[in-house]
Amino acid sequence: MMVVSLLIAALQQVPPPLGAPVKRPQLPPLPAAWADTSPFRRLALPTPGLLRQGPGRPGTRYWQQRADYTISVALDTATHTVRGRESIRYTNHSPDTLGYVWFQLDQNIYREDSRGHDLNPEDARFAGAGFSGGYTIESFDAVRPGAARGAAPGKTALATTVNGTVMRVDLDRPLPPGGTATFDVAYHFQVPEHGSDRMGRERFPEGWLYEIAQWYPRMAVYDDVRGWNTEQYLGQGEFYLEYGDIDFAVTVPRGFVVAGTGTLLNPLEVLTPAQRARLARALRSDSAVAIIAKAEVGSASTRPAGTAPTLTWRFSAKNVRDVAWAAAPNFIWDASGWNGILMQSFYPPAADSIWRESTRMVRHSIKHYSEKWFPYPYPTAINVNGPVGGMEYPMIVFCANRTSRPGLFGVTTHELGHQWFPMVVGNNERLYAWMDEGFNSFLNIYSARVYFPERDWLRTRGQAEAWAQFAATGRDEPPMLPADRISPEALGQVAYAKPAAGLYLLRHEIVDSTRFDAAFREYIRRWAFKHPTPADFFRSMEDALGEDLSWFWRGWFYRTDLVDQAVDSVRTRRDSTGMLAGIFLSSPGGLPMPVDLRLTFADGTVEQVRLPVEIWYEGNRFLYVRRVPKDVIKAEIDPEKNFPDVRRGNNTWP
Ligand SMILES: [Zn+2]
Repeated sequence: MMVVSLLIAALQQVPPPLGAPVKRPQLPPLPAAWADTSPFRRLALPTPGLLRQGPGRPGTRYWQQRADYTISVALDTATHTVRGRESIRYTNHSPDTLGYVWFQLDQNIYREDSRGHDLNPEDARFAGAGFSGGYTIESFDAVRPGAARGAAPGKTALATTVNGTVMRVDLDRPLPPGGTATFDVAYHFQVPEHGSDRMGRERFPEGWLYEIAQWYPRMAVYDDVRGWNTEQYLGQGEFYLEYGDIDFAVTVPRGFVVAGTGTLLNPLEVLTPAQRARLARALRSDSAVAIIAKAEVGSASTRPAGTAPTLTWRFSAKNVRDVAWAAAPNFIWDASGWNGILMQSFYPPAADSIWRESTRMVRHSIKHYSEKWFPYPYPTAINVNGPVGGMEYPMIVFCANRTSRPGLFGVTTHELGHQWFPMVVGNNERLYAWMDEGFNSFLNIYSARVYFPERDWLRTRGQAEAWAQFAATGRDEPPMLPADRISPEALGQVAYAKPAAGLYLLRHEIVDSTRFDAAFREYIRRWAFKHPTPADFFRSMEDALGEDLSWFWRGWFYRTDLVDQAVDSVRTRRDSTGMLAGIFLSSPGGLPMPVDLRLTFADGTVEQVRLPVEIWYEGNRFLYVRRVPKDVIKAEIDPEKNFPDVRRGNNTWP
């Protein structure tokens, strides 16, 4: 109240008379404010800590969940149905008590009410060609040991809520840190003929050939970065899975042969004595040994003695994020070995003319990647020919090509390269496809060069010039986009070619192959069987390379900045000590790069210099001054086309 009355008194006072305004001299304008918008500013990454450390290592408190499965299914070839049950032992290594868990029900993409069904035209690559299906979960129970010693385990039905291709399961008892929950699930689904180019079946005169994947309800990943990863399976985005041991049994008609992830546990029951002897020989053989020769396909003698209408094949896989299998009555089967690893191929007679070389391609790929990057950690590597164009699962890949030797090699070495990314280094494929497709496409460059040394590989995927031609069209997208948000027409460029070209550029032009290889191997070693994020990769590489590559990661992976380097002009002048040249360079593209500059002098001599990327620290123009022996008559940037320059018309002066 007091304050208000004082204010009124002040307002009522008569102001003093105003004098003539004081004329102040004109002030200079304020200097413009300035912030660091340089492409070289430090890339903002999540704050490191004890989970994921500053040097890009898993931290001392790093944790991840573990999922072990025991699965037993039967394949009904009359109705194309997979039916069975799985037991899941889920171990909570997180510091959190979990009241519910999430599962991935990928088969639900084939439900008519699924989002993937609505998004994809029927004939799209990742659709189901009009197929209507999905999982039927018959029961979902928590299992606990019986209360009394020797008593049967107790089962409690759990409440489940399906949300498209994911399902929440409410636990009847919270799962504490360090605790383990065991689930028992009975389920079935019908196998689509065209399963999003990832699984399916194909008809042959001898019967159907099945390639089976996304075939059991799988744990969603719970991680320290996002908690539950519950992105829908829409088709284009692949998978994110926990590691564990998986034992599985597949019951098929007696005449079928099964190829599956892992070690075959019961060869005595499903193979003939001759086949077992051939497999033992193959393991020690550099070249392919027929396990089932073409002439033997379909013969009753390829099956063990007995009359049971079905046989059950049992496989065991350690430290894997998934398992898949294939089954057919008409497989040719051959195998060889390297370093104790069994290389195998399974293909129908229709593929024989090309596929007789498959096992050699498998062996080359596994050996090459093992020796160059990280030892293959599994006991077998399998290539299967069937309807799926090209798809990878731990220890087993599906490749469709039956017509072209280089084509089959390309898809085989690519799908097997996935054994390193994402099977060993388990990134989130649905969010960051570039970390598996792109890294793998990069590995493939070198594998292919060794297998086909006579071919000219310079303009293929991952090469700077090929990439620049695409980037110049303006259809580039940031590889950092989640896989399902990349336009399908650009997927091969954005998730495969661009990251491959980026790593190639890093290895050959920005750093050098010795440092790069050591750093990339270190990244694989640090994150083998773990879940790295993009920041972990960037940090790990910088730590091992000894470089701040913020400018490169940002421009290449987060944005669509282009490389465009130019020589604008050259001036020379003579002083008392000799001749000086000033070469006016610019980089009008958003992405700086080191500069390869070739100078031609009046006497016809040529000199090439490499200018570091730091020449662009102060902006996108740089005056390079140097002593020269004679007048400069020509200056050219990147004459060998090692950089992805999208406008070469400004690379040469005059
Ligand atoms: Zn791939």
